[in-house]
Amino acid sequence: MRLLLVEDDELLGSAVYSGLTHAGYTVDWLRDGKAAAAALKQEQVDLLVLDLGLPGKDGLSVLRELRADGSSLPVLILTARDTVEERIAGLDIGADDYLIKPFDLGELNARLRAIARRRAGRATLKIQHGDLTYDPKEHSVTVGGQVMQLHAKSNAILEALLQRPGMPLSRERLEQILYGWGEGVESNAVEVHIHHLRKKLGKERILTVRGVGYMIPKA
Ligand code: CA
Repeated sequence: MRLLLVEDDELLGSAVYSGLTHAGYTVDWLRDGKAAAAALKQEQVDLLVLDLGLPGKDGLSVLRELRADGSSLPVLILTARDTVEERIAGLDIGADDYLIKPFDLGELNARLRAIARRRAGRATLKIQHGDLTYDPKEHSVTVGGQVMQLHAKSNAILEALLQRPGMPLSRERLEQILYGWGEGVESNAVEVHIHHLRKKLGKERILTVRGVGYMIPKA
């Protein structure tokens, strides 16, 4: 999943950046509210972790603009302990959840998984699709109870497709999920990982939708 982190505190930001990268997200990190607002107008991300006290433009204004633009992007806000009014305002403006600084990285990850799960309309962590089970926490795949060893980027593609069976994702969208801004995109990476996934999970598991992209059919 592609995640935008907006946090101006270098120390906290770098800890969160590495924690989330380690957890399997493709993370882009901005330190300025104005830059974040501009990026959100142009780039498609799957999750936003937004600090409220930011230079350029405060987090609540970024969030307000995002919702005014009609975006339903899942947002978790980061706030200070003494700002209950800000947290209430944030939730009312359209944040999905919040965390009070300082927080535990494990809890941030769990809350992000919960947001993604609720957005996909699932009550449980694991994604079941026919005989395939995907665990978004462990990034593990089992088919018929057998564990499949997959490349981290193949996993990221599989997870994205499994979030919405029946909805095709374009190659460009999948590239965005695999690579952060400024990262060199290998031109045939998506095709290579799709090929790898089909080889491991069965050809019919992932369909090519001509002129559109790739899709996992509804179970
Ligand atoms: Ca701050």
